[in-house]
Amino acid sequence: MCYINTLNKHDVKRCEVAIAGRYVPAEREQAFLDTIENPKYERDIVNGLKPFFQDKAPEDIKGFYSPEELSMLSSLHGTERDVESRMPVKMTRHFFEMAKTSKPLQRIIKASPDETLNLAGSEDPGYQMDFAPVEGMLHKYEMGLLYAVSTCSAHCRFCYREELISQKDIERQDGTVAKKGLAKIKEVTDYVRAHNEIVAANGGRHPETGREKLREVLLSGGDPMVLPNRKIGAWLAALAEAGVESIRLGTKEMSFHPNRFDDAFLSMLDAFHETYPEVGFRLMIHFNHPDEFLLRGPDGAYLENPNGSLKWHEDTLRAMEAVISRGWINVENQAPIIKGINDDSDALRVMQRALYRVGVGNHYFFCGRDIVAYRAFNVPIETAWNTLNESQKGLSGVETHARLSITHYKGKTEVVAVTNEPIPGVPGTENGVLIFKILRNALDAPDRGKVCIVGRNPDALWFDDYEDRVIFDEAGLFDYTRVDKKTIEAA
Ligand code: SF4
Repeated sequence: MCYINTLNKHDVKRCEVAIAGRYVPAEREQAFLDTIENPKYERDIVNGLKPFFQDKAPEDIKGFYSPEELSMLSSLHGTERDVESRMPVKMTRHFFEMAKTSKPLQRIIKASPDETLNLAGSEDPGYQMDFAPVEGMLHKYEMGLLYAVSTCSAHCRFCYREELISQKDIERQDGTVAKKGLAKIKEVTDYVRAHNEIVAANGGRHPETGREKLREVLLSGGDPMVLPNRKIGAWLAALAEAGVESIRLGTKEMSFHPNRFDDAFLSMLDAFHETYPEVGFRLMIHFNHPDEFLLRGPDGAYLENPNGSLKWHEDTLRAMEAVISRGWINVENQAPIIKGINDDSDALRVMQRALYRVGVGNHYFFCGRDIVAYRAFNVPIETAWNTLNESQKGLSGVETHARLSITHYKGKTEVVAVTNEPIPGVPGTENGVLIFKILRNALDAPDRGKVCIVGRNPDALWFDDYEDRVIFDEAGLFDYTRVDKKTIEAA
């Protein structure tokens, strides 16, 4: 209750906000928020294809698309094969500079007419909205994921959140159709508190879903690093106040605009850590290819430091070292393996080695998901496994922590092995087998550790390409029914 007569002006304002149903920061939270600096960042973004179509892109960027490419792309404009209505085009100056001499990097952000040749795919990969107890928040696994923003500094053509970034209408399980909304601090923290109170009152498990305390939350989007420091700080502090023990922030900004990790941002993180020292913080970064941070000489070879290690771009190295030197921030890289970008074991080997050397863990590599137009981007599952496996030959154990994951609708699934030889006496294994294993499973992970073995199909891009060759499926990957959204509790 607010005793408005006895409060000062600031308190009265907070009470009015609370009465209006908006989020009210606690006192120490507000004290932290008051310390945050909010500088503007000059990313020199080129937004969309229009500046290229109209010859208005900056002089040195104009040639990024050839006249033939522009003519093809412009002929698709406004048709159902319009590449920009599938995924908006966007790039930063820093990324352009890195991509100028790198075909794989160009493919990350450069629109191609081939993208919309085959638009098959899911509008909501993984039926993510089935796991949204409040708008903008997914609570599928043990942790929560937030859509904090719906854009990034630049846009990867293969993005599996293209439906969020392009603001597409998504059909929900109840038949309603709407764009994916963004998370709001009050709704999310109310949900976290309510969930955790129910769990605590029930001896550590939610009575309906079996899940434990929601102790970890991933700030995602889009890329939260496009938000001002104050907004990022507001999320961090509000989640900490709600009892979240560990926060992750997913970002590709180390690649798109490393100068975003400046003193103002790092001071905000320091102040957060000082205010909430018990809350863990992890940066989940996204490099697909070593060209995003390593320098090459005129002969195309990566430049070396005197000790033979590879030379980073100075802005990226400064940003990375500034983050890692804090000691309390963990940094992990994860990336999909995409056709023409990093389906290259040499590139993956260089990347895993170079990242681990500066203290970045190699977390996951992913097979591309079944997004709309996935056939333009995904490499066959078996090729992805072989590429990663080859890349890890000769690397040390600590450099090769990354596993290959494919996100089945049931949960994160590891592609454990691909064999070449038949298993004697087992029909369907004549060309070898592929073994999947569930790593993370929705709700309380009942199927973690279960495997599925299928006969090989070197062309398979998605699970349905194995439907006719399932040998053993204790994981239930080929007997999947959609989770009833009602089992995901509403706060
Ligand atoms: S940075 Fe991530 S969210 Fe943003 S466009 Fe690329 S893949 Fe999508």
